[in-house]
Amino acid sequence: PSERKKRPDWLRVKLPSGPDFLRVRQLVDTYKLHTICESGSCPNMGECWGAGTATFMILGNVCTRSCSFCAVATGRPNEYDTDEPQRVAEAIRLMGVKHAVITSVNRDELKDRGAEIWYQTVRLVKEQSPQTTIETLIPDVKNNWDALHRMIEGGQEVVSHNVETVERLYRGVRPQAKYSRSLEQIRRTKEARCRTKSGIMLGLGETKEEVFQAMDDLVAHGLDILTLGQYLQPTKMHHEVIEWITPELFELYREEGLKRGLKYVESGPLVRSSYHAERHVNVPI
Ligand code: SF4
Ligand code: SF4
Repeated sequence: PSERKKRPDWLRVKLPSGPDFLRVRQLVDTYKLHTICESGSCPNMGECWGAGTATFMILGNVCTRSCSFCAVATGRPNEYDTDEPQRVAEAIRLMGVKHAVITSVNRDELKDRGAEIWYQTVRLVKEQSPQTTIETLIPDVKNNWDALHRMIEGGQEVVSHNVETVERLYRGVRPQAKYSRSLEQIRRTKEARCRTKSGIMLGLGETKEEVFQAMDDLVAHGLDILTLGQYLQPTKMHHEVIEWITPELFELYREEGLKRGLKYVESGPLVRSSYHAERHVNVPI
């Protein structure tokens, strides 16, 4: 049976529909934008797009990396679209988005890792929708700390960087990344007085102890908010689902994360890094 058929009941979700969904769909098409909702085949599209929220993906839809869980195409990116920040800002204004989540592919081939486009996007959204709060889910800058500072100085409320999995599984899951480097990036983001957030996908073969260790490492590096969700395999070519994590275990992880010093933990089968993101803006820094 296919992975979809084996999915436990708690992972079955409604298909997208309704007028708000169609409105988001039209704006995304008109402004030639990319969303991680679609590129990542997210199961929450019905709920989020129906409520007028989407996660915009900037800097193109081709990534220089090849994480084994990710449905975004890998290759040599050919877009460097200086007009994109303006189109994203306009779409967010027209959609009346209250809380915008913006992410990007990795652009390792660019000297500034895409930081200038990041900065311009945040500034223009803030300028054109002053009431809108912003979460930026930024890529691994590969020790380019000037790029990190440019990415995070536009005034966004939340700066997210996902460690994605526990340290032992990096080679098979995030081959071009390093666990310690991502922790260091989070530490430096915290030093710049930002509200920090990260996410881990569960069901990739990690043990409970390894998840607890990741929580401790993240707390030690200044992390405020953690999201934990079930990994789903986007296609047969991607990393297999090793385990279906039960709702009870997700709840245990939530409680344990808070005990270990995180300020907020969003934990559940359908949680994605951008799920309920509007709730994270008020977490104290
Ligand atoms: Fe998009 Fe995030 Fe909602 Fe999924 S959870 S549909 S990626 S906004
Ligand atoms: Fe996907 Fe991000 Fe990995 Fe690129 S860096 S393959 S967009 S998860």
